[in-house]
Order: sequence, then C-alpha cells, then structure tokens
Amino acid sequence: MNFDLTEERQMLQDTLRRFLRDRYTTETRNTIIDSEAGLSAEIWGELAELGVLGALFSEDQGGFGGAGFDIAVVFEELGRAGVVEPVLDTALICGGLLTELGDDDQRQLVEELIGGALHLALAHSEPGSRYDLDAVETQIVQNGSDIVLNGRKAVVVNAEAADHLIVSAREAGGLSLFVVPSGTAGVSLRGYPMLAGGRAAEVMLDDVQLPESARLGAGGRALSALEAVIARANVALAAEALGAMETATALTREYLLTRKQFGRPIGTFQALQHRMADLLIEMEQARSAVINAAGYLETDQRDKQIASARNLIGRAGRLVAEEAIQLHGGIAMTQEYELAHIAKRIVMTDHRFGDTDYHLERFIELSAA
Ligand SMILES: Cc1cc2nc3c(=O)[nH]c(=O)nc-3n(C[C@H](O)[C@H](O)[C@H](O)COP(=O)(O)OP(=O)(O)OC[C@H]3O[C@@H](n4cnc5c(N)ncnc54)[C@H](O)[C@@H]3O)c2cc1C
Repeated sequence: MNFDLTEERQMLQDTLRRFLRDRYTTETRNTIIDSEAGLSAEIWGELAELGVLGALFSEDQGGFGGAGFDIAVVFEELGRAGVVEPVLDTALICGGLLTELGDDDQRQLVEELIGGALHLALAHSEPGSRYDLDAVETQIVQNGSDIVLNGRKAVVVNAEAADHLIVSAREAGGLSLFVVPSGTAGVSLRGYPMLAGGRAAEVMLDDVQLPESARLGAGGRALSALEAVIARANVALAAEALGAMETATALTREYLLTRKQFGRPIGTFQALQHRMADLLIEMEQARSAVINAAGYLETDQRDKQIASARNLIGRAGRLVAEEAIQLHGGIAMTQEYELAHIAKRIVMTDHRFGDTDYHLERFIELSAA
C-alpha cells in the first residue's frame, strides 16, 4: 500500500507547516492563550486564506478535500505547532453538521465559515453525559410553530466566540439539533480558559424561543449525523496528538544533544538513548494508527478502527508527554518553553470524545458485536 501523500495534500502540509513555523511562535501562542478572546482573529483569517478550513470540506460542499486523509494532514500540522484556535469545533464539527443536515439557508453558513467570517460551537455535552453522545436531557417543547428550549450544556468549546451555537435537545422521536444565534434571549454563558489553551463555557438555556427554521435536519434524527461528525473529530484528535508528539520528541532529541553533563551531551548516555528509542517506536505505531483510522473513516469498520486508534494514541501520547518532561528535567515545566504547552495539548486531546479507557471498552464492545 502506498502511504505517501498526494501532491495536493503534500502541498497543503508544506504550506501550513511553514506558515505555523513562521507565525505561530511560542511567544505568539502564549499571548493568544493569555488574551481574553483565547484565539487570534488574525491567525484565523490567515488559516482561512491558506485554505485550511476549505480542506475539511468536499468540493460539492464548497471546499477542496474533506476525506479522512485531508483531516489528518491539517490536524497533524495544527498539533505539531500546538495551535489553540478552534478549527475542530467551528469547521470540522459544526461545519460538518451543517453540511450533513442543513437546508439551503443553513448550508450558506458553511460558505461564510470556509471564508473565515464565522465561528460556531457545538453545545451538546451536559454535566452528566460523560462521553455518551445520546445522553441529553435538554428538552424542547413545540408551541405551535415555535420551539421552546430549556437545558444546560457543559464545556462548550468556543462558545464565547461563536456567532451561532448548534444545540442538541431531546424530543419525542430522539435527538434534534438547532442553530441558535448567539445573543438569542434566554441563552447565557459562563466562560473560562481551558488547561491547554482556548476557551469553553457553561451554557444555560432558559425558555429559548426559536422558529421552526432553526431546526437542523429532521426532528429526532440527529444522532447518526452527530456520530459521523464525532468520528471525524476523533480522527482529527488522533492526528493532532500525533503532531504534538512529533514536536515533543523533536524537542527532547534536541535537548539530549545539547545539554551537557559529565562533560558530554546527555544523549550520548545509553540509558537515555534507550528511552528515546522507545519513544520513536511509539511514534511509528501512532502514525500507523492515524493512517488506519483515516482510511476507515467512510467504511462500516469506522467506529471500531477509531476506538482502536484513539486507545493506542492515548497510551502512546501519555508515554511521550511524560518521558519528554522527565528527560528535560525541570526546564520542561517552564510555560515559556514550547514543551510545557505541547505536553498539555497531548494530555488534553485524550479527554475529548472519549479517553484511553473509554476507547478500550468501546473497542472490546464493537469487536464482540
Ligand atoms: C518541576 C520541577 C521544577 C524545577 N524547578 C527548578 C528551578 O526552578 N530551579 C532549579 O534550579 N531547579 C529546578 N528543578 C530541579 C532541576 O531540574 C534539577 O535540579 C536539575 O535538573 C538538576 O540537574 P543535574 O544537572 O543535576 O542533572 P539531572 O537532572 O540529575 O539530570 C539531567 C539529565 O541527565 C540525565 N542523567 C542524570 N544522571 C545520569 C547518568 N548517570 N547517566 C546518564 N544520564 C544521566 C537525566 O536523565 C536527565 O535527563 C526543578 C525540577 C522539577 C522536577
């Protein structure tokens, strides 16, 4: 099998890598993380201009990519540079739901999104839902042609920057989704910074009145579209963790060859070479797992292969993050140093849409089915 990237994907990777290396320095990122917005509108515009958002959509959706390998290329580079801008939430997750379920008007939003003019956030998880996509207590009541929404959503990533929230709610037939413009009466947010950069919010929905046109797709039928979009998000998270792991191992290698102790670089000590070799083997496994998950995204093996990849990458990522920190000694704990942020991103990706243990159980369950 040929694992090389196509010419277009190679170009996208090269361009994005160069752009982030020049523009997204540790200092720039630390300023963004410390800012009230938690993201840079300027960087966002530049990412859109480079075609990074368009690469996540197929041609008939207004983009020029959209396959598993396009997602993997983009998110590996974002992970390599430790980008905190919400490409996952606005473009891949919410954009994916709009293209999958939207009517003509709603799909217009995707065009604005790809152009960089729009931010979105998925308000789905609730305080008690853990990783269960079907555990939603937010309810709607149909009042003639009006819809009234009541509930509470937890850890809504990018909620404060979003122009619209995509909100899930339960009704008689099952799960439904609604496109809710920010600032709609009855919607209130309590925002906070996240551990590894970016912002999230608790979202309160008190008697939010919506027209029927806010409904995204058919009533009660949103679960399978959500599952498909979260499967894509899982491939993205696996690739992001891989990119971040690449940076962590590169920084560690550089440090071992630079830091001198006992009159020579510490990387010349065999005990440390063995530890570094273990990391490089884990990296190769992780890379294969991402390729596997991306390749199975559009098949009926999707969920099993993704669970397997996320479990493997969760374990490998933790090992790489911990070993990189240890091999660096105390310097790794300094916020000004790149590794501190990268290690946090690796750990944090393991808590979105299922951690290592969750994906192990899911893999066992799906293998037995
Ligand atoms: C969270 C944290 C914060 C810290 N903050 C500070 C701080 O602010 N200021 C400060 O001064 N110190 C700080 N330290 C301590 C600082 O990291 C250590 O004092 C410093 O690393 C000691 O350096 P060292 O040269 O003695 O070598 P070590 O830290 O002992 O080793 C350096 C490297 O050499 C390798 N090594 C050690 N011995 C051998 C060997 N025999 N053969 C082969 N390789 C070997 C180690 O694996 C390591 O990678 C902190 C430590 C931690 C964990």
